[in-house]
Amino acid sequence: MMVLTKKMIEIRSILQTVGQSNALNLPSIVVIGSQSSGKSSVLEAIVGHEFLPKGSNMVTRRPIELTLVNTPNGQAEYGEFPALGLGKITDFSHIQRTLTELNLAVPDSQCVSDDPIQLTISSPNVPDLSLIDLPGYIQVVGHDQPLELKQKIADLCDKYIQPPNVILAISAADVDLANSTALRASRRVDPRGERTIGVVTKMDLVDAKRGADILSDRKYPLRLGYVGVIPKAPHSSSSLFKKGSGNISAAITRNENAYFSSHPVEFGSDADLNLGTTTLRKKLMQVLEQTMAASLKTTRESVRNELEEATYEFKVQYNDRPLSAESYLAESLDGFKHSFKEFTETFGRPQVREMLKEELDQRVLDLLAAKYWNRPITNLGPAPVEPDVLADLPKADPESLYWHRKLDSSTSQLTKLGIGRLATTVVANAIQTNVDRLIANSTFANHPFARQAITEAASGILNERFYSTSDQVENCIKPYKFEIDVEDGEWTRGREHAAGVLKTELKTVEEAVKDVEKVVGGKRKLKDVMSFVEKARKGEVVVGDDGATGAGGFSSDLLSKGKEALFLTDRAQLLRLRLNALKSPQCATKNNKYYCPEIFLDVVSTKLVSTAVLFLNVELLSEFVYQFPRELDVRLGRGLTKAEVERFAREDGRVRGHLDVIRRKELLELALEKMDGVRELESRKREEGRGR
Ligand code: GDP
Repeated sequence: MMVLTKKMIEIRSILQTVGQSNALNLPSIVVIGSQSSGKSSVLEAIVGHEFLPKGSNMVTRRPIELTLVNTPNGQAEYGEFPALGLGKITDFSHIQRTLTELNLAVPDSQCVSDDPIQLTISSPNVPDLSLIDLPGYIQVVGHDQPLELKQKIADLCDKYIQPPNVILAISAADVDLANSTALRASRRVDPRGERTIGVVTKMDLVDAKRGADILSDRKYPLRLGYVGVIPKAPHSSSSLFKKGSGNISAAITRNENAYFSSHPVEFGSDADLNLGTTTLRKKLMQVLEQTMAASLKTTRESVRNELEEATYEFKVQYNDRPLSAESYLAESLDGFKHSFKEFTETFGRPQVREMLKEELDQRVLDLLAAKYWNRPITNLGPAPVEPDVLADLPKADPESLYWHRKLDSSTSQLTKLGIGRLATTVVANAIQTNVDRLIANSTFANHPFARQAITEAASGILNERFYSTSDQVENCIKPYKFEIDVEDGEWTRGREHAAGVLKTELKTVEEAVKDVEKVVGGKRKLKDVMSFVEKARKGEVVVGDDGATGAGGFSSDLLSKGKEALFLTDRAQLLRLRLNALKSPQCATKNNKYYCPEIFLDVVSTKLVSTAVLFLNVELLSEFVYQFPRELDVRLGRGLTKAEVERFAREDGRVRGHLDVIRRKELLELALEKMDGVRELESRKREEGRGR
């Protein structure tokens, strides 16, 4: 017969995970009682173990949804907290500690919480039951407890004792039933006493006559009756059982039997009283099964309605499209890998070459500026003693050692720049930037977890390859540190490219001058400031320490803008000069390299880049293209647990909604199927009953 309860408890658990609506609930037995009425003792006697939080100041702060599962063929007794994922706990003192911690986690300000703790206890010694333990009613608020605690507990209990739940109202025999808070509460919601079981504890503390009178009470009649119990494990044995994981039910029953049979007049068989925890268990099983069976029909209706709604939502909102967290992740990952593949097709040797060359062009410009184009005007004051290098260059004697050394040292500075490091950094950064761009344009954009995983996958590979790549590149350009042969074709191409670089630079400088003009307030004004600065440079006017109020009436801000503009126009003039030089027949052949350092350095940088690109391609780029997708598979595929995949998918609001509606539908379908199973079982039983 109890198969039905088991199945219905299963259905109840399924419906609980669907959540929300009360209509989707099968009834449970709600346990209420005042503090110290023996409520915990009764529950522990039913379970056969001490597992509830104890301690004088310990108030249960959250409801405990206790599901007992009878495992007829099992040996082990264990508890599980499905929401916590702690696995099977066979040590009941561990369950007790966990419950204590969960209770203490409710902040004092909140007093009690209506968020239930779910606990399942499986054992061959427990019946299939679904019980809800609530905080005990308190009479007087302790001085260290919040004032509203009493009311909050009462409100919480009221929420749970609504129909169709069965109320297990615990009262102690040594307190007048008229004063029992539990019975008073139950009477308010169940005035005819139809779904309340009265439990009277501490039968051993009142004299037998009085105890028997309480149980046959006519003043507060309950259809389901009263049960008298002594749920306290006898002292000697309880200390004995503390050590092991022994079951205390038998000891309690023995104790109860001994007590009741020692008062045959009051508790004898003809007294027709419900006595002992064993009787209580049986009663609970019976009542729960009947109550559950009675509400099966209405609950089934609710489930059907709910399922229809979910089906409709699935169709309208999600087009009946199946989805799982796994498939969502797999699709997203495929999409991302695809976009990465597309990227690799546009990011090969030519692109790397161009990027590197641009970087080196800038370095060459810096070198030229430092070595050849230096007319320092950082200080106001007399012109530097150094000769005007550029004015001298075209007149230079090709045999002059001075110019030879200048070019040699420039070249060696370029080749010893640390090309390996520089080139590797440039390419690695470009790859990382592109990966970031791909992420931003992918489904993963809304998934912090995945974004991080991908970024880390990329930087992991890049970091790992960094040193070997940069060493390789550095090694391979080594020959250029000693000797550089230039061919005619290279010279011609270098000449063209260098001219292009100078032109671009010239444009940048001219734009910068315009910007300064704007800041200063026009061409004229800037010209005035500049000519003043020019004079100061030549020593024709003197600028005092207090530059701000200095001659010309220019503020120090203006003067520094003037200096900047002067520097820029100087630079522009110089660039024009050099552009002309490059175009001149003098620079047409490689024989005149000392006159044309811009071309020679360009040729060198092109050679460095070509060599670097070869090795960057092999050591970094190809490796990355090969490893990255595999690393993604590990970090976002095989390497993830089911829970992580689920968490990932749920980061996206729309996906979460989609998954939720599918899950809801599946659970409701499952519940409905099981309910139909139960109905079939019931009708078969009825037929058998008739046949007999
Ligand atoms: P709760 O606060 O309602 O959970 O009450 P407890 O189950 O903790 O019981 C309060 C006290 O009464 C404990 O010291 C129990 O050992 C004791 N107690 C519970 N039931 C009985 C009983 O039937 N007889 C006796 N003598 N003591 C009991």
